[in-house]
Amino acid sequence: MPNRVNRREFVLSGAAAVVAATVHPAAQAPSGGQAPAVMVRKTVKPVVIASNNGNIYKNGGDVTGVAKAFNLMIGGSDVLDALVAGVNLCELDPLDTSVGFGGLPNADGVVQLDSSCMHGPKKRAGGVACLEGVKTPSLVAKAVMENTDHHLLVGRGAQEFARNMGFPIETDLNTERSRTLWLEWKRRVDPDHYLDPIKRSAACYDAGLQMVRDGLIEFDHFWGTINCDGISPKGEICGVTTTSGLAWKIPGRIGDSPVLGAGLYVDGDIGAAGSTGRGEANLYNLSSFLIVENMRRGMAPKDAGMEALKRIRANTIEQRLLAKTGEPKFQLQFYILNAKGEFAGVSIYPSKYAVCTEQGPQSLDCEPLYPNRPAQD
Ligand code: ASP
Repeated sequence: MPNRVNRREFVLSGAAAVVAATVHPAAQAPSGGQAPAVMVRKTVKPVVIASNNGNIYKNGGDVTGVAKAFNLMIGGSDVLDALVAGVNLCELDPLDTSVGFGGLPNADGVVQLDSSCMHGPKKRAGGVACLEGVKTPSLVAKAVMENTDHHLLVGRGAQEFARNMGFPIETDLNTERSRTLWLEWKRRVDPDHYLDPIKRSAACYDAGLQMVRDGLIEFDHFWGTINCDGISPKGEICGVTTTSGLAWKIPGRIGDSPVLGAGLYVDGDIGAAGSTGRGEANLYNLSSFLIVENMRRGMAPKDAGMEALKRIRANTIEQRLLAKTGEPKFQLQFYILNAKGEFAGVSIYPSKYAVCTEQGPQSLDCEPLYPNRPAQD
């Protein structure tokens, strides 16, 4: 008789293979011979989620970042390797002014990049901050994870590490577009603002937001980043965040993206959360960690994210950050998935996020905390 396997048997044997592969070491049969208590991890529907630029930029190719990551992951690549390859598309694409090459520079016109990554199954992590001269900081973050005992390298040390790891160091990561926008910002900022740090900070923020209102920078790209998280059919979860950070930031400013728990958090047994938007809100509230902990306590991804947005809202009391009507002046998005493969995007104001499943890539609406952005002050 031919050795035919019908679909049901195929699915069952596939599940059995995954179960066999995911028996917890502590559950192996003791030498005394009792049957092991087998921890079964079910197969999940694989998915990759990301900020919406993950489904926009192609760096001259045919696929977007989420589709590239999903295809590599389904093809058997390590999940983090797949996600990093996906965000590399955005980092290298000069049209994406929020990450990597062509990211909007700091107040001195220098592009300084932040990134972190977390590997759920290996329980390892790495990050770089204020990194200059390397187009793909996510790959340097992964190199920190793979080659060092540390979790975060900063500034010149991060660049020296990258050089030693064989990354080419560019003299300038600006593109014509990012430098032109920086010059425009300089033109608009009060020339004596350097004399008064508080006035300077307010002037920087307001000039940037005015450029958003003038249509020069997208609202989501005044901040802007890519976070990308995925879960494989075996239930392996990873995540990566990479960014050029807040446009026109004070040189040396580090955002939430490279800080574990702020712009990214992965617990391989629970889920992943990552963010784009005002990094200071995530540094203050450790929002990505908070979201994963909310899921640990049983919340669905959307509820876990909305709870974090409410906490952030409650902790935002400075008038300069609030519209006259009381809502935050800034945007913040979270991209969240759990160990069952359930996922959500949530945001303070309406926006999109990117998803790729077996049905292909798409952009979906984030669940917003507020239905509309406040009228301009
Ligand atoms: N959250 C990042 C930061 O604050 C980047 C961003 O999304 O703008 O640096």
